[in-house]
Amino acid sequence: MKGLLVLTALFAAVLGKTTFEGHQVLRITAQDAAQINLLKELSEQQHLGLDLWMEPVHESLPVDVRVPFNSLQAVRSFLGYNHIQYRVMIEDVQDLLDEEQRHMLKSHVIPRTTDDFDYANYHELSTINSFMDMLVAENNNLISKIVIGQSYEGRPLNVLKFSTGANRPGIWIDTGIHAREWITPASGIWFAKKIVNDYGRDSVLTDILNNYDIFLEIVTNPDGYQFTHTSNRMWRKTRKPNPGSSCVGVDPNRNWDTGFGGPGASGNPCDETYHGPSPNSEPEIKAIVDFVKSHGNLKTFLSIHSYSQMLLYPYGYKSTPAKDQAELHELARKATAELQSLHNTRYTYGSIITTIYQADGVTIDWTYDQGIKYSYTFELRDTGRYGFVLPADQILPTAEETWLALMVIMEHTKNNPY
Ligand SMILES: [Zn+2]
Repeated sequence: MKGLLVLTALFAAVLGKTTFEGHQVLRITAQDAAQINLLKELSEQQHLGLDLWMEPVHESLPVDVRVPFNSLQAVRSFLGYNHIQYRVMIEDVQDLLDEEQRHMLKSHVIPRTTDDFDYANYHELSTINSFMDMLVAENNNLISKIVIGQSYEGRPLNVLKFSTGANRPGIWIDTGIHAREWITPASGIWFAKKIVNDYGRDSVLTDILNNYDIFLEIVTNPDGYQFTHTSNRMWRKTRKPNPGSSCVGVDPNRNWDTGFGGPGASGNPCDETYHGPSPNSEPEIKAIVDFVKSHGNLKTFLSIHSYSQMLLYPYGYKSTPAKDQAELHELARKATAELQSLHNTRYTYGSIITTIYQADGVTIDWTYDQGIKYSYTFELRDTGRYGFVLPADQILPTAEETWLALMVIMEHTKNNPY
């Protein structure tokens, strides 16, 4: 085992992968607004290289931060000096990543059909692309692959279209828009297979697909996703360079043209929530915007993230309630109750701004204002034990329970045409 570890480390070093040895994820619990402000000041100390998994916004929510080994002492002293409480959530990030890699190596055999695919594992982009091609080939009466654009690095932006007839209204689902949230494309793969398995067998799904098309973009940020496999597992943003800055990438969930550039996003290209130079500056976002507009008849838009176990509806950029708030809230309650019924996974729900914090230029504010009433963002498992490094043995339970919530929302869409 030790030998394998050394080999893995060597392999990573040769490929120039960023390692996270000795990095810890701390969960910090601020007691009041003053401590939140101290944490904001701390996070602005660029030389510490802190990676905020959950930002300091309000004392009601914990702050999760990945601290590089070399900054641990300084951060601990700062917290101790200011009497700010914290605990260690992840002792050594690299240990979890090594385990993740070992598990991925177990499914190195290339499957010949989607029945042989290893759904309980994380996969590289090329494997996900072959999965999609296989699934389409096996079910070409039900699925087609459409390319809605190209990523900054020239990768096709693939969307699976599940359709049983022409001129249907549409339901959109995207996963993998934030690169490091691996549980979401892993769930997206499972959803695709689930749709194939259930069509013609499950009466509700069959009824939905007999009336609506489903569009599923599994890897919405392919450049970022590829980068998490080859270079830096903790990458979140797109991969487009920012002129005048050495920092790369834009937060694809702050780049949309509703509330763009407000205080719930950053103007600093080095920040994880950098909104970009202008709305839709990222080709990955522009492609979806163009698709939504040209389709013109999407009724539901579900954008899937991790982590924190939340189901969120608009708005993020303002506290004015959405005009459909009562319906969106009740539907979120039903969907999360159904989700919880499978493995007792508890979700909170509400509008973005009241449930987490102000976030500007987010996906679902834009889609909602385009007239897509059932616009929701999911934050999948977990609540911080593993955060973005959710062990692969949680992929299937996560996908299964999430699917129940998706079905509630899709069925509601079908029963409430507008
Ligand atoms: Zn996200």
